[in-house]
Amino acid sequence: MSAYDELMAFQSETEALSQIAGRLGWDQETMMPRGAADQRAAEMAAIEGVLHARRTDARVGDWLDAAEPVDDVARAQLRHIRRSYTRTMKVPAKLAADLARLTSKAQGIWAEARAAEDVAAFLPTLKEVVTLKREEAAALADGGDLYDALLDDYEPGATVASLSAVFNALRPRLVELRERVLGSAAQPDPLHGDYPVEPQLALASKLAETFGYDTNHGRIDGVVHPFCSGNGLDVRITTRTSVQDPFNCFYSTVHETGHAAYEQNIDRAYLLTPLGAGVSMGVHESQSRIYEKQLGRSRAFTGWLFGQMRDGFGDFGVADEDAFYATVNRVHSGYIRTEADEVHYNLHVLLRFDLERALMAGDLEVADLEAAWNDRFKADFGLAVDTPSNGVLQDVHWSVGLFGYFPTYTLGNVYAGCLYEALRAAVPGLDDQLARGNTMAATDWLRDNVQCHGGLYEPREVITRATGAEPLEGPLLAYLEAKFGALYGV
Ligand code: ZN
Repeated sequence: MSAYDELMAFQSETEALSQIAGRLGWDQETMMPRGAADQRAAEMAAIEGVLHARRTDARVGDWLDAAEPVDDVARAQLRHIRRSYTRTMKVPAKLAADLARLTSKAQGIWAEARAAEDVAAFLPTLKEVVTLKREEAAALADGGDLYDALLDDYEPGATVASLSAVFNALRPRLVELRERVLGSAAQPDPLHGDYPVEPQLALASKLAETFGYDTNHGRIDGVVHPFCSGNGLDVRITTRTSVQDPFNCFYSTVHETGHAAYEQNIDRAYLLTPLGAGVSMGVHESQSRIYEKQLGRSRAFTGWLFGQMRDGFGDFGVADEDAFYATVNRVHSGYIRTEADEVHYNLHVLLRFDLERALMAGDLEVADLEAAWNDRFKADFGLAVDTPSNGVLQDVHWSVGLFGYFPTYTLGNVYAGCLYEALRAAVPGLDDQLARGNTMAATDWLRDNVQCHGGLYEPREVITRATGAEPLEGPLLAYLEAKFGALYGV
């Protein structure tokens, strides 16, 4: 066997074990009996230990040195394995272990502090997390920018410089758009009434299928926080229901279906290899967002959804398709990122991006974080933060050491804007199909131009190849300003 073949055989087994670890995680959120938590923690630690040993196995380094790729696919496989191996080897084992221990403890401390609305109870722990993440970043950065080094974990190739240029162009236009929209005399009503859970779940399943989710290679279960789990032939999604807010169920299902479709549609030749997974968090989020927002909340598709809701719930107090479209896309001020509409969402992310960059650079002390958060929130949203759980304590990310993750949400929206523009140009009759609840032309285009490639190309290259242009903020802004300008008459 050649060095490349030996490496790929070893890697394939590592990928299989990693799928098993992922499925244990899925089970923990969906099916596991509550009393099993301690045993599960030991099981997860055991398999993570096996995975870490394989990822740092000296033979991987030898195989990488000796492997001779025969084609572009092999070159891409080696690129992924080398990147992961190099990163893992750069971080001292003690630091990796300290970080794992600290962040699992910190998550619990954050949850208690949030419930008690007590920022001071969390800050000392957050300070420790920031210190260790800075050490990790320094080990990874080779003298380069600390934040860039962390970003590379989630969005390979992205840099603060490239993201800032796009984000700094987004922010003032979004602030201006939200002010115009909220100042409009035309403010649509929110949904009223109760929506029984059974028809919600039935329609959520239908939505997932409508967007191409393959239930022969997946399943849908209920959870507190929806997610998508797994790659290849077993890609599971989860959803949740709220009696007052069926849109939460429907659109989180469509969102997770976007993530799942990406995983399910990757070329099967890449199964259980590094190419057999979505290439980055940003490209992943572009798929979930374009399904959920540009397609799922379009005038055409919501016309179909209105009929489906009438079938499932009877007359639910919304007069017609146009009123329904306005209700689905209602813009409202709020504190919470995960509940934000399309106009506000990226402003929540940009706030976190700037603050976490300042923390990593040492320009902002943890002790000053809450004040910095509240000042920025007031500037962009025109609101004073009322409680820490509505402000600096609302997200789990920093407690578990996820620095450099937030910007991939907005990057995904930027990518989705570019892809949607290209999709509309490629599929002229798109609205006629969406109005009949047929997403096939859209999902086929995304499968063939983005999803099937898996990890073959670098993230930016995936978007550039699909759209014919470098990803920039222009298409997203044009989409948002046209859509909400028309909806609100501004
Ligand atoms: Zn997502």
